[in-house]
Amino acid sequence: MPIHEKSLIRPENLKVHETLAIDGIDVSGHWSTFIETRVVPDYNENLELEIAAFPGGSKIHRCFQCGSCTNACTINAIEPRFNPRYWIYLIRMGMEQELLRDKDIIWQCVSCHKCTNICPRSVEPEGVMKATALWLEDKGYVPKSPAHVFDEEFSRQVIERGKIEDTEVLHKFLSKTKQPLVQDWLVAIMWGIARRLPVKWGIKTALAQVFKPKARRWKNVRSAISDYIYEEDEMRRQKLQTIAAVRTSQTPQTHLEAAE
Ligand code: SF4
Ligand code: SF4
Repeated sequence: MPIHEKSLIRPENLKVHETLAIDGIDVSGHWSTFIETRVVPDYNENLELEIAAFPGGSKIHRCFQCGSCTNACTINAIEPRFNPRYWIYLIRMGMEQELLRDKDIIWQCVSCHKCTNICPRSVEPEGVMKATALWLEDKGYVPKSPAHVFDEEFSRQVIERGKIEDTEVLHKFLSKTKQPLVQDWLVAIMWGIARRLPVKWGIKTALAQVFKPKARRWKNVRSAISDYIYEEDEMRRQKLQTIAAVRTSQTPQTHLEAAE
């Protein structure tokens, strides 16, 4: 089902007259819908390149605005302002200020990958949402999001030990985001698990909190992963520096050369 173009226009920019007659013809209500004229003076011509520099964002240029990602999106179904297709449009147009109006909800992507599975152009919109959230943090527009805090703790355990302990991830996530460690939903889950699983599972989990089990022969793998992450971070940092330098000094043609 195609997405309605109204999703590309903010509700406050739509003007409808409840009673209006033009040349004697009644055009009240939706017949008199107009789009308010807007002036956008502050394009960021490098916005697409900046977001493409973050992990997951490199295929954003492939989007042809079919809207399938938004139609399939889990979060859009409950929060219509969460609109991957709309944000990709803004990014490609360089409309940074317009994008910033949604900066507090972009991180809400739950990584269900429905958008990525359905995208006919292999844009990987889920990756673009993550890249956009990281870009917002990198630019200092938003503090570190809860999703980022969770990812960091998850990744830390994978890199350090090759294994994750769900209880530890949850505990660190709640304490780092300053949430109470005892929550109703958590207690309900723990009760459910305790009733269904054998006692030895509980003992194993408790021991894992103390002895932190590692994957076998993890040391070599860990250093390879750490090196890879360092190199990727360094490459991205240099790319962003080049884009920023070119932005202030040279022509649009050179922008593209700098990003390659
Ligand atoms: S991965 Fe994120 S953007 Fe994609 S469908 Fe799921 S919630 Fe929506
Ligand atoms: S990201 Fe893919 S699914 Fe979404 S609008 Fe662009 S081409 Fe369509």
